[in-house]
Amino acid sequence: MADPLDRVADASLKADLERIRGWNGEVLAAADLAGAVRGFQGQKGIYRPAGAAHALWVRQTLRGGYTDDDLATHPDGSWTYRYAPEARNGATDLHLPTNRGLLRCRDDGVPVGVFRQVRGPGPGVRYEVLGLAFVEAFDGTHFVLRGEAIDFTAAPVPEEVVPVFRPFEPSPTATEEVVRRLRDHRFGVAVRRIYHERCSLCDVGYRLRGQAIAVDAAHIVPVDRRGNLADVRNGILLCKNHHALFDHYAWTMDEELTVRVSEDREFRRSAAANHVLRFEGRRLANLPSQTEDLPAREAIRWRLDEFARA
Ligand SMILES: [Zn+2]
Repeated sequence: MADPLDRVADASLKADLERIRGWNGEVLAAADLAGAVRGFQGQKGIYRPAGAAHALWVRQTLRGGYTDDDLATHPDGSWTYRYAPEARNGATDLHLPTNRGLLRCRDDGVPVGVFRQVRGPGPGVRYEVLGLAFVEAFDGTHFVLRGEAIDFTAAPVPEEVVPVFRPFEPSPTATEEVVRRLRDHRFGVAVRRIYHERCSLCDVGYRLRGQAIAVDAAHIVPVDRRGNLADVRNGILLCKNHHALFDHYAWTMDEELTVRVSEDREFRRSAAANHVLRFEGRRLANLPSQTEDLPAREAIRWRLDEFARA
């Protein structure tokens, strides 16, 4: 599949969608978004630019009362999010121009930007940019929005299908520098989300000034060994400390997701003050809510072999 934005004929709509895609995973102030995205200043809910056939974006405010579980992430990094249509006099009316704009997106395969308000420190309203999503369906009560995959040139895998895991990138051309960096960024956003922004080993998740800090999305089969860049099952979220030790094969997890620590005596002595030894023999403390997003067995086995060799 080619880039879905190639099928957007309206040049200004396309430019807006490209900009929103570039902010994938970022948290931005409403005031900044108002200056950068058409309609953000005045419109709530669904925005369809005047004269355009398609909707450009939807936004969820905190008033909407959603929970994080409303966003279900899939192994390819895509997600499903159900969004309520605009109502008139308390009743859903699909003939409203905004709702019609979303139905047109569904019919033509044109994505929309998705924003949702987050609680932040201090005054000022902030939004998380979930990214671009396809309007998959209207299920009778909600629009079913489907986020782009980490590899956004591939169509999201249907929800009922658990895709086959491939530990390695298929060909060297797929890992060109630009592609690698882009996927790495999108992979990081998806992995942070499914691990609730906390280290899988020690459950630490620092937040400072409204943002998660000092956690990394690590690849189980590393990038320099051609590990898969576009599947969250080749990922795990770790704090800086446990990421560094993971990279050095000082610890790993086995297929039961139990923590194994190196037998190296010097390491164990030197790591006495590090929490890693406390987790030895225990199951990883923080894991994805959905079993389909758990680390893949093939990737873990590859890692265990390397760990044994080290
Ligand atoms: Zn940690």
